[in-house]
Amino acid sequence: MTIWNLGSINADYFYRVPHLPAPGETILADAMERGLGGKGANMSVAAARSGAHVSHIGAVGPDGQWAIDRLTEYGVDTRPIAKLDAPTGHAVISLDAAGENAIIVYPGANRELAQDAIGLALTESSSGDLLLMQNETNGQAFAAETGSKLGLKVAYAAAPFSAEAVKAVLPYLDILVLNQIEMAQLVDETGLLPGPKMGVDTVIVTKGAEGCTLYDRANGWDAIGFDAILVDPVDTTGAGDTFTGYFLAGIDRGMSTDEAIGLAIKAAALMVTRQGTADVIPDLKEVLDWG
Ligand code: ADP
Repeated sequence: MTIWNLGSINADYFYRVPHLPAPGETILADAMERGLGGKGANMSVAAARSGAHVSHIGAVGPDGQWAIDRLTEYGVDTRPIAKLDAPTGHAVISLDAAGENAIIVYPGANRELAQDAIGLALTESSSGDLLLMQNETNGQAFAAETGSKLGLKVAYAAAPFSAEAVKAVLPYLDILVLNQIEMAQLVDETGLLPGPKMGVDTVIVTKGAEGCTLYDRANGWDAIGFDAILVDPVDTTGAGDTFTGYFLAGIDRGMSTDEAIGLAIKAAALMVTRQGTADVIPDLKEVLDWG
C-alpha cells in the first residue's frame, strides 16, 4: 500500500544558543546548520525510512530542487511535488543547551499548492492506501474528503494547532495524532474529547518523555497509556513527526495499533538522541538494533 502524505517541505535553519532569547533580547548563536525539514517532509522520511512506500504531495519554490533530491535520496516518491513561483518554506529553529527549542516557520510554497494538483495526485491512489496530513500546507479538507471517498484511511497530525483546521477535517478522519498541548487546546476550543461525538476511531495523544495515550474505538475510547523510552534528550525537534511517520508505516504494514505505537515510541526516542530533523531520522534497522 502507499502512504500519500500531503505535507510541508522546509529548509530548516538551526541555531544552537545558550538559552532561548527572551522578548527584546539579542543573543549570539554558537553554531548554525541547514537541513531538510517541515512536518510533512519529516513524516514522509520517517515512514519511508521505516520501509513504507510514500508519495509526497507538496510544493517547493524555484530554489527547492535540493529538497526534492534529498527526499528522493531517502526513498520518498516525489513525483507529486509541484515547483511553484513562491519561496520554499523555511524554519528558523533556536535550540538551547537542554535540547529545548523555539521555532518560526515561513510557509511559502507549502500554502500555495492548487487543489487540482492534490486531486490529480490522489487519482493515482488505491482503496486501502493511507492519506496523511498536517497543518502546514493548504488543501487538507479537500484532500481528506477526496481521500475518504476513494477509500483511503485518513490520518491527521494536528500541528501547528488550529481548532478550525481540525474541525474541517474531523468528519473524514480515521486517525488523529496530537501532542498533549494540542489536545488541551482542542478540548478548550471545541469541547470535543476522544469518543463517539468526535467520531475518530483512533486518537493518539503524545506526551513527550511521558510517552503517549491511545483512545481507540475498539476499546470504547478508554485511555490506554504507553511509556516512552528513557533517553538523555539532545534535540526533541522532529520527535512527534518521527513518531507519526513510524506509526503510520506500522499500520500500513498491517501491525496492530499497539505494535505500531511500540515501534513509533522506539523510533522517536532514538530520534531525540540526535540533533537535526529529516536528515537524521533513523531507518528501521537502526531502530530495531537500538537498545
Ligand atoms: P511533539 O514533538 O509533536 O511535540 P512529543 O513531544 O509528545 O511530540 O513527542 C512525541 C513522541 O516522541 C512521544 O510520545 C515519545 O514517544 C517521544 N519522545 C518525545 N520526547 C521524548 C523524550 N525526551 N524521551 C523519550 N521519548 C520522547
